[in-house]
Amino acid sequence: MDFNSEHKKALKVVKTTLTKCNTSNIFHLVEINFSTRMTRSLGNVCYSEVESGPYKGMIINAHIGLSEILWPFINQAERRNTIIHEVCHLVAFHNYGLNIKAHGKEWKRYMGLCNLPPDIYYTLELLNRNAYKNLLK
Ligand SMILES: [Zn+2]
Repeated sequence: MDFNSEHKKALKVVKTTLTKCNTSNIFHLVEINFSTRMTRSLGNVCYSEVESGPYKGMIINAHIGLSEILWPFINQAERRNTIIHEVCHLVAFHNYGLNIKAHGKEWKRYMGLCNLPPDIYYTLELLNRNAYKNLLK
């Protein structure tokens, strides 16, 4: 699998997702990398920002990790949905702060703006396990 081209495709999905969520101003701060250490989940997100003081809201980290191990086992639509799922987390944290529920109403609202059902999370969880099992065969 060509992870260079997957990385480029992923960045495009990040850009369109941020635009749909009216948060395209953070695009240049979002980093993506494919990790060989992620064997149990397709994607993860790392977001941190300054919580108080004059730099409140300033992003320290906006990072999306994607599983290099599981990526080949899922189809194009599932890859896209995984990235959108993670970007919606970034947008929700950025716009509502770090104390919200990860899969709460803010995240669900952004998933809705991207025309994805918010229960996709559970589908992805299931996929993770299936992909993981395939990998062990
Ligand atoms: Zn999630």
